[in-house]
Amino acid sequence: MLGYKVYYDKDQLKFVYNETVSEVYAVGYDSPTMWFYTLSNAKNFCDSNNDHTGDYSVKICKDCGAAFLYSIYDDKWLHERGLKPYSRCYKCRKIRKKEKKDEER
Ligand SMILES: [Zn+2]
Repeated sequence: MLGYKVYYDKDQLKFVYNETVSEVYAVGYDSPTMWFYTLSNAKNFCDSNNDHTGDYSVKICKDCGAAFLYSIYDDKWLHERGLKPYSRCYKCRKIRKKEKKDEER
């Protein structure tokens, strides 16, 4: 499957997109890398989220330094439960959860 790749550029601190199609590959659950079917959708995603009118932002994981996607839906979900915004990526949160569980045994 082919698509227009969108990813987060850590140097420019913004979402960028490729103007040519590339092969879609599997990425992590909260990865800031994604593909769009049309170039205009890829561009719209970058434009709206780079000027912070969109639903997504990117955070840097406290543990592994990876960039991860954070949405207004995550924010709302956490806020409703009185929880703090994520400071770690999904993978590191899972590792920490498992470590905590092991300690309790
Ligand atoms: Zn991490």
